[in-house]
Amino acid sequence: MDKRHVVIFDSTLRDAEQSPGASLNENEKLDVAHQLARLGVDVIEAGFPISSPVQFKAVERISREVEGPVIAGLARTVAKDIDAAAQALKPAKRWRIHTFTSTSPVHMEHMLRMKPAVVLEKAVEAIQHACSYTEDVEFSAQDATRTEIGFLCEIVQAAIEAGATTINIPDTVGYAIPHVYGEMIATLVEKVAGVENIVLSTHCHNDLGLATANSLAGVEKGARQIECTINGLGERAGNASLEEVVMAIKVRKDVFGVDTQIKTTEIHRSSQLVSRLMGIAVQPNKAIVGANAFAHESGIHVDGLLKHRSTYEIMTPESVGLTESKMVLGRHSGRHGFKARCEDLGFALQENQLQDAYERFLELADKKKEVFDEDIIALLDDEMADAYETFRLDYLQCSSGTGTLPSATVRIVKKDEVLQEAAWGDGPVDATYNAISKATGMAPELENYSIRAVTGSSEALGEATLRIRHEGKVFVGRGVSTDIIEASARAYISALNHMMVKINGVK
Ligand SMILES: [Zn+2]
Repeated sequence: MDKRHVVIFDSTLRDAEQSPGASLNENEKLDVAHQLARLGVDVIEAGFPISSPVQFKAVERISREVEGPVIAGLARTVAKDIDAAAQALKPAKRWRIHTFTSTSPVHMEHMLRMKPAVVLEKAVEAIQHACSYTEDVEFSAQDATRTEIGFLCEIVQAAIEAGATTINIPDTVGYAIPHVYGEMIATLVEKVAGVENIVLSTHCHNDLGLATANSLAGVEKGARQIECTINGLGERAGNASLEEVVMAIKVRKDVFGVDTQIKTTEIHRSSQLVSRLMGIAVQPNKAIVGANAFAHESGIHVDGLLKHRSTYEIMTPESVGLTESKMVLGRHSGRHGFKARCEDLGFALQENQLQDAYERFLELADKKKEVFDEDIIALLDDEMADAYETFRLDYLQCSSGTGTLPSATVRIVKKDEVLQEAAWGDGPVDATYNAISKATGMAPELENYSIRAVTGSSEALGEATLRIRHEGKVFVGRGVSTDIIEASARAYISALNHMMVKINGVK
């Protein structure tokens, strides 16, 4: 084991996917997993197989189809959880069972209702059972930062003896302070025999905004795995953000003296993909991936930058994959050129998806003189999102203006059926949504709606994102078009299609 290598364990598909409104369908999970592989994460935690048939199937497909990283599945310290995880993970080349139990007094007493000795015994049994399937077994002591240090050392020792090869010390509730967390890791390194032969891991939540700082404090004291998520998504205030810990280790190599194998130029694209699929926008001032992370406004800063970039820039935008938008394609590029660019951008399209996307690209090239990579990515994301479509927008006509009542007419195709309706509303988007609801007979609650320009200039593509709620479940929809009303209609229909998958199941 290379002591200078920090393992990046990504939990976007498990910890982040469990957070409210962030759930993804199976194809979307595959898209994220493929992108995580391109990003170069060491481990992808693909889900919690026993928790539902949907989770099980997604973990199984990721194990079968995604090459490169180790694929991990979560399991409680219960035999049937471990059996399910092993079953789902088996198709992967390299895989890991991640079993966890709580070790803090408050969790053991009120949640598990078990004495510490029983908790320890069950953990040992579970690890031994997992070891009968694979050599790669991780054990997590949930709520470690509120666990008595004596008991923590004891259970970590027992876990190592039982065969665990990675031991995770989670700050489940985001309670840790960097130097205190670092001390905890240092104590384990000092007191537990055999710890030098396994990997100690961090898993820090961000309730006090300290997830990144705590993870790095752990690394400083000897932890060699960081569990993290793209954009820092996760339960409550989220998890340690992958892009932050990775770039801190890279930019301050002088301090940490360790490395990751992350291909940092894939960071920006990973962030954008996860944000779009989960329907959770990245705050503009978010470190590394926010829209303003590399924007300089103040006169003094701009002046310094123009003289020499390093005056106010500790890392380049290019190092995280932000490149100047350049014109890549126009009408003359042809289908071949378009297909090649799609592949460069990391999209594997089916023949029918390619044809649809190409037709929309030609339309766009007519309306917009210059077609940028961002435009193509937005179009493709929109195209891929409708892999499971029940409803398709065929026609939209909308009128609004000062002194008129906004009204809309829509025609929607549902298999062989053509649904057509007209409606009015408070504004053109409202009128369009009312018409779509009437036509489809679906009236979910609209939770939030936003629209943004994909690139600068007034002829840019507009991207609408919204969340709808139906029977307590949240569904995300996105749509793009140079016409913002059409983008909004597409977003609504895409959310309805997601909802239909939930209602009717995946075909
Ligand atoms: Zn967590």
